Amino acid sequence: MQTIKAAVCHAFGEPLRIEDIHLRAPEQGEVEVTIDAVAICHSDISYAEGSWGGSLPAVYGHEAAGRVSTVGTGVQGLSEGDSVVVTLIRSCGSCAPCAGGSPVSCETPYNGDMGPITLPDGSKLHQAMATGGFAEKVVVDRRQVVRISDKIAKDVASLVACGVITGVGAVVNSAHLRAGQDVVVIGAGGVGLNAIQGARIAGARRIVAVDMSAEKLDVAKEFGATHGVLATHKAPWLVTRKALGGRGADAVIVTVGAIPAYDQAPNYLATQGKVIMVGMPHVGGEATYQPVNLAAAGQGMIGSKMGDVVIQRDIPWMLDLYEQGRLKLDELISGRWSLEQINEAIADTKTGTARRNVIVFDRKA
Ligand SMILES: [Zn+2]
Ligand SMILES: [Zn+2]
Repeated sequence: MQTIKAAVCHAFGEPLRIEDIHLRAPEQGEVEVTIDAVAICHSDISYAEGSWGGSLPAVYGHEAAGRVSTVGTGVQGLSEGDSVVVTLIRSCGSCAPCAGGSPVSCETPYNGDMGPITLPDGSKLHQAMATGGFAEKVVVDRRQVVRISDKIAKDVASLVACGVITGVGAVVNSAHLRAGQDVVVIGAGGVGLNAIQGARIAGARRIVAVDMSAEKLDVAKEFGATHGVLATHKAPWLVTRKALGGRGADAVIVTVGAIPAYDQAPNYLATQGKVIMVGMPHVGGEATYQPVNLAAAGQGMIGSKMGDVVIQRDIPWMLDLYEQGRLKLDELISGRWSLEQINEAIADTKTGTARRNVIVFDRKA
């Protein structure tokens, strides 16, 4: 048992409190990672605001990178000192989805209330998203961790734990985009920009970004969008069709959690096109569409969780592409903050103008 600093949520909607918590040693199949960088994701904010429920008190944070500091028994392929990315994708390896190659859909439940962290008085502290990354250290399952090159800066590496794999994976793994197909990406925020670069990497013919903000459409072009369409237009799908030579798109990636975006997404589709549903609306939100149109045009709507990623396969290739200059990561970071500044960093993320804000731990002193 050791004492570490963490940002703890005691009540939904209130600022996180930086305080001492207890972390137990890694057990069978687990590793302890000393965190160098952890990015703030909109999911962390949704949880901290209570939008998705969950246990309290809790430590959020699930996009982390650092170094392995202790290895539990039975862990293979990782040693003390290894640079790693820590993800929230905890998979058992043996349930039906895991055995079928879809670890993001693992059906073995994880009880974060019984996780490795506790309050100093011994009472329970929830390890949110199986990670609890807003802390100096985490203890996680070995399967959540991917070894990476020491050469890659940890703030950059933390990004591939969630937002990047979600966006790139939605195109490559969920849509199975074929080179030469046309893509529409609705929403040019963090995940949207990664869907755009995923489409570029996959060889899309044309990539149309749709967003409410002209500024974000400009950024989208830096990431590979060939066209930008303002969502404020009365019928943006008609503008999009013009850009695509009169057709709809083969894949429409919805990266925002807004119900109107889901209502309209099928309008952008070509015959046999697919809507890939990535953005998460609030619980209870309902979208409407006409099944007759989808059936008659052979179209589909597919949910995409975490980009259907297989982390041990996909994170190494994405970081290789980064090192080759083919995947933009540095450009996704808009601010670096200390753990003590986490509430300011969250407030900045909520303004919607930030890309990724990353909490960095400076251990040189
Ligand atoms: Zn995330
Ligand atoms: Zn499983």
